This record gives sequence, structure tokens and C-alpha cells, in this order.
Amino acid sequence: MGMESASQLEQRLAAVRGNAPRRSPSVRALAAYASNVDCKLATLGFTARVDFDRLLTATAYQPSFGQSPFAFARGLQFERMLAEHGYAAILGLLREQKAFNVNDARVVNVREMHADSTNSMQLRAQETRALIARIVANDSNAPNLIDGAVLETPIGGIPARFEADAVATKFGDLIHAGEVKSFPVVDERADPDKLGAALDQVSIYILLIKRLVEELGADPAIVSTRAMLITPKNVGMTPTLTEQDVTKRVQRVNRLLSTVPEPMSILDQFAPDEVNFGLIADRSLEPSNRIDTLHRLADRVGTHYRPTCLVSCGNARFCREQEFKKSSPCVTGPEAIRLLPGIESLQRAAELVEGHKPTDNEKPAAQLLARAGRLHDVASATASTRKRSSSNGRHSIR
Ligand code: SF4
Repeated sequence: MGMESASQLEQRLAAVRGNAPRRSPSVRALAAYASNVDCKLATLGFTARVDFDRLLTATAYQPSFGQSPFAFARGLQFERMLAEHGYAAILGLLREQKAFNVNDARVVNVREMHADSTNSMQLRAQETRALIARIVANDSNAPNLIDGAVLETPIGGIPARFEADAVATKFGDLIHAGEVKSFPVVDERADPDKLGAALDQVSIYILLIKRLVEELGADPAIVSTRAMLITPKNVGMTPTLTEQDVTKRVQRVNRLLSTVPEPMSILDQFAPDEVNFGLIADRSLEPSNRIDTLHRLADRVGTHYRPTCLVSCGNARFCREQEFKKSSPCVTGPEAIRLLPGIESLQRAAELVEGHKPTDNEKPAAQLLARAGRLHDVASATASTRKRSSSNGRHSIR
């Protein structure tokens, strides 16, 4: 993309963002968006850096998820404890559980290096690049542990920077990525949703480091696809390290991020002075007007609702209601989506069960639905015959 078109695009995205709350440029936000790349509204919001979790505050669709203050405070306390005394707790885990030689480990906290700068993200991205370059060049002064890295990658053709909660380590041949999470691991088990989200985040971190290593002319295979998770053991604060192979997750996010549509093609579908995220977020306006604007924007650019939106996107309650009104199969869950390809609504599915003629698109699902309808008729007829004969039997005893 040329300089002029890049700045035009940035201006148009700024116009569409208006005064809407900004999302944090984090790997966590990228991991949440990665499962929604086929939704144009989500792509528009993500590339315009709008925080969908706060967009609909004070409307009927305000999202109900979010970390409890208690869990948030516990997370901060755990992270602080791990960073104390030159990351002694993390280095201890790497020595005990990975058998790394951590004597004289060199640790760099990139976040602290540029904390007060106005262009902190840019400086941190440059610093991260320089540090990883030293690692891949086997510089004897290269760091062994990096915290607070910022990595760059294009999203829909636009360069973007993302801040990682995770740490990167290199004590042997491979670079490892580790994510710090404060949810407990009890008897080596964790909440599956939280574990899945954490592994998705670390997979993105691994992918971004691999891309950077490749850009630096080295083999991306030096970045391990075994994710390290550092969590409290049981309900206390003693850290423990678990590992999981995330090769498939890394491949999946790589595939998803390469399919992000170019935002210009979405921006061309509406006039930002009429509909924009600033108007949707504006709490001085009537909530119904804000929701009307969201309706108009969603209709112009398109959405792609699926049940996982409920845990990954702040607009989910709004989008679910629209799908519910259309009686869309996707509101009933992933099974229905898989079983009803080409079927637009649950009413239409019911018609096909009754034997209505399918369109070409509907044919694959229609055969199954018609068969299900016939089986249902047979089962109902058998049940009523049994009911009749048992009731006749009771009469004859009398
Ligand atoms: S909730 Fe709506 S806007 Fe968000 S990803 Fe799902 S369909 Fe797109």
C-alpha cells in the first residue's frame, strides 16, 4: 500500500471510529478477533481500533462479561510476584521444570524501558525486533527472557502492533513463548474455556515471533510450538508451569489472519458521517438512536454471527437478537449450523421437514430433514396406536 493510500485509509478509519472507546492493542484482543475474521463489522471495528466491549455501554445490549475486580487484582498480584527479584520465580520454574541453565540469565523488560514515551508502542516494537535479531544471531549478550514485547503484523493489509502479556525465553536452541495467567490449575486441570483462550493467545504470540524471525532471515522453526503456561498451582499463589503443543492452533490462526478482508472494501459500503462508531458509543444520545445506527452499520457491512461471538465480541447480544428475529439456525448452536447448510431459517427447516420442495442450495440438508420428518411421522403414528390399544385394554378390564 502506498504512503498516500495508507494515510487516506488511516483518516477514514479515524472518521469511522469517532470518539468511540479504543481497544487496547494487545495479543489478547487479536486472539479474540481471530475467531471473527469473517465478520465484516468485527473487522471494521478491529481495524478502526474500536473497543466493542465498551461500545454498547448503557444500552440494553451492554455485554455482561468481563473480569471480576477480584480476579483482576489477583492477576496483577500474581504477575507482580513473578517479576519480583529479576523474575526469580519464572527463572526458578524454567530451571526446575525445563532443566534450563538459568545462571546469569539476562532479562529485559521492554514495557518498562519505554513506559513514559508518547510513542511507546513503536519504540517497544523496534526494541523487540532488535532483541530478537540478537537472539537469532546467537549474540552472546542476547537476552534469555523478554517481557512486555510488542510485535507487528499486517491485519487486512494494514501494519498493526500488538502488546504481548507473554514472555519469550531462549536458553537452548529454541525460542519458547510462555503466557502468565492467574486462573488456578488444580490437580493439573484448568477451566477449559480459560485454558483454550490462554492457548489461543500464546499461539498468536508464537505465530508473530515466527513471522519476525522469518523476516530477520532465520528459520521460524527455531520458535517452539510448545506453549508454556505459568499459572498458580491450586488456589494459592505458588506458580507452576505446564506445557502444551499448540502447532494446530498456530496453523489455524495463521490461516485465519491471512483471510482478513481489506478494510477499504468495507469502508466503501457506507458514509462515515452518517453511520460511525462514535455515534453508536455516544452516551449523550438516546440508546434507541445509538442502536438504530448500529443496525444501519451492521446492515451495510454485514455480520457473521455464531455462538462463539458470546465469548469473543462485545456486540454479541445485539447480533444474537438480530439472528433470533430472523429465526436463523445459528442461534441454536454449532450442531445446527453443521446440519443445516444452505437453510436460511428454522421456519424453512420446518417446511423442508414437512416435505416442501428444496432449492438447489437446500438439497444436501433437505434430504435429511425430509427423512427426519418421515421418521417423526412413523414414530408419532406408532405412539398413538399404542396409546389407543392400551386405552382400549383398560376399558375391556372394566
Ligand atoms: S457479535 Fe456480531 S459483530 Fe461481533 S463478531 Fe459476532 S457477528 Fe460480528
